[in-house]
Amino acid sequence: MICTLDLLASPMPCEWLENARIKLISRWQSLPHGILLTGPEMIGKSLLAFDLARIMLCETDQDKSGCGTCSSCQLVEQSVHPDLHVVTSEASGNFLSTHFVRHAERYWLEKKLTSARKPSEQVGVESIRALNQNLAATASRGARKVVIFPKADQLNHNAANALLKLLEEPTRDTFIILVTSSGHRLPATIRSRCIHFSVKGPSSSVVATWLRDEKGVDPETATQLSGAGLGPFVITDLIERGVDGALLEFLESIRGRESVFGEFETLKPFFEALGDEFVLELLQRQFLKQVRRSASAGVLSASDKTIMDRFVEIGEVRESLRTTIDSQLALEDMLIRIQS
Ligand SMILES: [Zn+2]
Repeated sequence: MICTLDLLASPMPCEWLENARIKLISRWQSLPHGILLTGPEMIGKSLLAFDLARIMLCETDQDKSGCGTCSSCQLVEQSVHPDLHVVTSEASGNFLSTHFVRHAERYWLEKKLTSARKPSEQVGVESIRALNQNLAATASRGARKVVIFPKADQLNHNAANALLKLLEEPTRDTFIILVTSSGHRLPATIRSRCIHFSVKGPSSSVVATWLRDEKGVDPETATQLSGAGLGPFVITDLIERGVDGALLEFLESIRGRESVFGEFETLKPFFEALGDEFVLELLQRQFLKQVRRSASAGVLSASDKTIMDRFVEIGEVRESLRTTIDSQLALEDMLIRIQS
């Protein structure tokens, strides 16, 4: 699991979240029922949403940080609070803390029908209908109900329309917190019905210090890992899975080269250790970096054009990996096409 922070810690054990938290909590009582939290990927935005929900639901201390001891706080901690609704895709369960997953399971409706299929990457309209039904009932405990969408950009078209209705005519005392690193993917109609908070990501030096001081990473590795431009919780996940060395090796192998593709067999260990999707994302980032460098120098060459074509090709493969069963075939095919 990626989020290993103590969710009930106050202040939050990373400075970039604590700053955003202070801002949010100082004024939550005057916020409208739709709240949109945006910011870079994997910096802990969902943890902020969860913390805000905990405070909104607390029965005794809603001004500061939640008491941590009332029965509502206890239910949140045990991930069984009936008035806290978490709506996210099944696939994102791999990237969220257990606190979220336990709350989210009640909206994974397809899972109940069959287990022999790929977990869905989207939130469908059925989940929003189920949410509506649950919200229409009286709050089980206190006066409020809180809904969190940890990856709001996963809503499919029909689900987004259904959510829009809910935002237009909310049930009483309901707060809806939408979290995303791709705010532009949300329909403008949804965005316009929310107050927008932008959470700033930490600089690489802040991440390096945090990895060193809080996670016990040796200083040199902390500097190298933080230089990759990844969200701090991506890095801690890689460390926990013991594949941070593979990440550094892979970054080294693609750095500064025009051609980053070898045979499939060369890249296979990286696909296996780091995951297909992640390796492809890193490749795309590297391409983008190269083209940006040329663009800032004012000259885009023919090779930059080729690099952009590759960028688009990889994007298409990333899309197809979400549906295809034979990922090795798709990746081999991509390498052959790009090399030719
Ligand atoms: Zn409490």
